[in-house]
Amino acid sequence: MRILLLSDIHSNLEALEACLAATPAYDLVVNLGDIVGYGGSPNEVIERSRELGRFFVRGNHDKAAAGVMDLKDFNPIAGMAALWTREQLTPENLKWLSDLPRGPIQVNGLAGVQFVHGSPVDEDEYVVSVRDALEPLLLSSMPLTFFGHSHLQGSFSTNNANSDVFRPEYRTVGQTETVEFPLKAGIRYLVNPGSVGQPRDGDWRAAFAVFDSDAQIVSFCRTPYNLKSAQDRIFGANLPPRLATRLAAGR
Ligand code: ZN
Repeated sequence: MRILLLSDIHSNLEALEACLAATPAYDLVVNLGDIVGYGGSPNEVIERSRELGRFFVRGNHDKAAAGVMDLKDFNPIAGMAALWTREQLTPENLKWLSDLPRGPIQVNGLAGVQFVHGSPVDEDEYVVSVRDALEPLLLSSMPLTFFGHSHLQGSFSTNNANSDVFRPEYRTVGQTETVEFPLKAGIRYLVNPGSVGQPRDGDWRAAFAVFDSDAQIVSFCRTPYNLKSAQDRIFGANLPPRLATRLAAGR
């Protein structure tokens, strides 16, 4: 089975469409949350995401925009974007967002694999370092977890004795590229496909991944998208301009 992994789209329709155009063939899509927040196309991104399949976990921005979580842990810019998003959403999309499940979720036919937003231990926890990853890696009942939330593409792993980090290295800054990451037996992994709509690893391109469960290979991908159009929607909505400018820097 080939699974297209999308995470942290953040209402960036242009980035989502670019990923869908660039992805190799897949059998199903799993969305790791933060479908909305920050960007200018919340309804369009929800509707496009729903067309793609039925596997979702909720992110903190989804909860905030839906009113499932209060905004006290949000910085002012993220809070403003969440409130703006809530005002824009159609009643149907608001209801759909508020009904999204908390991770971990599993997919039938895919043994030993789970999907979360932050970490398997806490849906809102940020896993950015090997140190953060160790507890969820060791406590989790599943050898392979796909997660999002940090907006940093890559993998953490452990064989119980040693831990490792993998960050894909790309050769260009503006083209579609893929880096293959074969998984090894007997190792536990936490894998982040990266953020579709607001990467924070210094690469402005939209990020996603495809997991081939038969070959046990994760293909990390980056693809350029219509950045100016995504930025113009943010400016046009009178959202904080920083939300548009940061997209160009991938920070
Ligand atoms: Zn996010």
